[in-house]
Amino acid sequence: TQAPVNVTVTGAAGQIGYALLFRIASGQLLGQDVPVKLRLLEIPQAVKAAEGTAMELDDGAFPLLAGIDIFDDPKQAFEGTNIALLVGARPRSKGMERGDLLEANGGIFKPQGEAINAGAADDIKVLVVGNPANTNALIARSHAPDVPADRFTAMTRLDHNRALAQLSKKLGVPVTEIKKLAIWGNHSATQYPSVQHAEVAGKGVEVDQAWLENDFIPTVAKRGAAIIEARGLSSAASAASAAIDHVYTWVNGTAEGDWTSAGVVSDGSYGVAEGLISSFPVTAKNGKYEIVQGLEIDDFSRARIDASVAELVEERDTVQKLGLI
Ligand code: NDP
Repeated sequence: TQAPVNVTVTGAAGQIGYALLFRIASGQLLGQDVPVKLRLLEIPQAVKAAEGTAMELDDGAFPLLAGIDIFDDPKQAFEGTNIALLVGARPRSKGMERGDLLEANGGIFKPQGEAINAGAADDIKVLVVGNPANTNALIARSHAPDVPADRFTAMTRLDHNRALAQLSKKLGVPVTEIKKLAIWGNHSATQYPSVQHAEVAGKGVEVDQAWLENDFIPTVAKRGAAIIEARGLSSAASAASAAIDHVYTWVNGTAEGDWTSAGVVSDGSYGVAEGLISSFPVTAKNGKYEIVQGLEIDDFSRARIDASVAELVEERDTVQKLGLI
C-alpha cells in the first residue's frame, strides 16, 4: 500500500475547513486508494476549535485517514507537506481599504510561503483559496524561490463550476455535456467567465449576447453575494467542493478534449503579464497544470480579460509597494 500523502489545511477551524476536511478524509481529494495525513494550521485562538473538528474527524472512522496533527506555527505545519490548501485569510471588515486587506494578508501568506520553501516536500502543490486568492498566491510564491512557480495556484474552480451550472440550466443539458468553458482573470467581480469556446456534443454553444452580458456573467461573478443573501452564511460547502475538484484534477488530469480553469502563474500567454497569477483555461497532465494555447480571442473577450487582468496588475503593484513581494 501507498505511504500517506501529507495534506496541510490552513484556516482549518473555519467554515470552508469544516466542509473540506471531511471530503479529504473520505478520499475525494486524491482518490479512493490514497491514504492521507492531515496537518491543520490555525491561529492560536482557533486551535481549540480545530481540535473539535479533529475529534469529529476521528469519529468518522475514515479508512483512508492516517492521522491528524494540529499546529499554530506554519514552519511545523508545512514540514514534509505534499499538498497545501491555504484557506485561512484575513476577511475584509467593514470600511477596510483594499491596501489594508492586502497588507493584513501579506502577514499571513509571506510566512506561509517561507515555511513552504523551507520545509515542504519536493512535490509540493499549493492551492490558495483565501481571498484575495490570486494575490495571496502571488505573495506566498514570491517567498518560496526554491519551489517551481507552477506549484502555486489560486482557486477559480468555484467560478468555473458556477458557470457550468448556469449554462447547463440555460441550455437544458447536464453539466457533463458542456466542455471548454473558461474563467479568465481575477477571482473577483471582474472575472470573465467565457463561453466563447464552449461546446456541447462537439458543437459551439449559441447564446445571445444580451443573456451573456446581463445575466450569465453577472450571475457567475456575484454568486457568492447571492448565496450570503439567501443563506445568511457564505458559500463554504461549494468552495470546499471546488477546492477538492481543483486538486483532484491537478493530480489525476483533465479528460481528453476538455479543460478546466485555474489561477496559475502567467507565462505571458494571451497578453497576461508574466508572473501574475491569473485564471486561464488549463489542462492537467502528469501532475501539471498547463495553459491552453492558441485560442482565438474575440473583441468582447479581449476587453473583459484585459479589465480583469488590469485589476491583478493593480493588486500586484500595491503589494509590491508594500514590500510584500
Ligand atoms: P471561511 O472558511 O468561510 O473562508 C476562508 C477564506 O476563503 C476567506 O478568505 C474567504 O474569502 C475565502 N473564500 C473563497 N471562496 C469562498 C467562498 N465561495 N465562500 C466563502 N469564502 C470563500 O472563513 P472563516 O472565517 O469561517 O474561517 C477562516 C479561518 O481561518 C478561521 O478559523 C481563522 O482562524 C483562520 N485563519 C487561519 C490563519 C492561519 O492558519 N494562519 C490565518 C487567518 C485566518 P472572503 O473573505 O472573501 O469570503
